[in-house]
Amino acid sequence: MLNQNKIAASSRGWMSDHGLRRSFFSGKVCAGCGELRVETYYRHPFPMLAPLAKGHWLLSDCSCVKKERSRERAKQQNLLIRTDRRDPLPLGLREHTFQTFNVTAMNRTSYDACRSFAKRFPNVPQGRGILLMGPSGTGKTHLACAIANMLKDNYSVSFACLPILLEKMRTSNVNLDELLSADLLILDDIGSERETPWTTERLLLIVDGRLTNLKPTVFTSNYELHDFEARVGMRVASRIIGHNLHQFLRGSDWRLYRDGRKQY
Ligand SMILES: [Zn+2]
Repeated sequence: MLNQNKIAASSRGWMSDHGLRRSFFSGKVCAGCGELRVETYYRHPFPMLAPLAKGHWLLSDCSCVKKERSRERAKQQNLLIRTDRRDPLPLGLREHTFQTFNVTAMNRTSYDACRSFAKRFPNVPQGRGILLMGPSGTGKTHLACAIANMLKDNYSVSFACLPILLEKMRTSNVNLDELLSADLLILDDIGSERETPWTTERLLLIVDGRLTNLKPTVFTSNYELHDFEARVGMRVASRIIGHNLHQFLRGSDWRLYRDGRKQY
């Protein structure tokens, strides 16, 4: 009892510190689920211009609202993280095949490596995938999707844009089983996230989970090797670099670089 009063008093203190005042409560019963939705009025901490109200109402969620929210979230997630066996790729990426890829002197090595990876997929050393690096606009995502499109009819393929996946993991429960157990996972745009202990742990969960399941992953990143380590941290970088073929896709300044090493 005493504790409850203390909590109530301290939260009132916090609210008035922030200029909020709970003026009065109201409530209504949801016609859908019969739960009480509590309505609380918050006064604005400072005077507002004439046409605006002095405060606003906040209505608590009932089961229907929560269900609708998670339905919305699932819909978004389906658009961004595809695990459908027939159409693993988001709509805009389905046309990315080896046939539609524009092969040039700058990307031929990577193109050949990706095609050979896809052709030899059942026989690639287990868990060994590809890390596609290079400036944006050089065709990394196209090549990764080309591999997915070539394999999707015979294998389970998942695609995830890493920044979006991490954002989903931050705000809701993401079921990782499908990502970890898919025969092939495309992890697009690794390294564009700022490295934090949290992102490192999540990345390790995915990268280690794939390796443990002996399932290959194709990574794309806008960074070169030395920047890559700085972007994703040493622990993640050493695993990815150590277990995957590296391919650099060149921009127009490709002559500045030496050719990528052949590892397969
Ligand atoms: Zn309801």
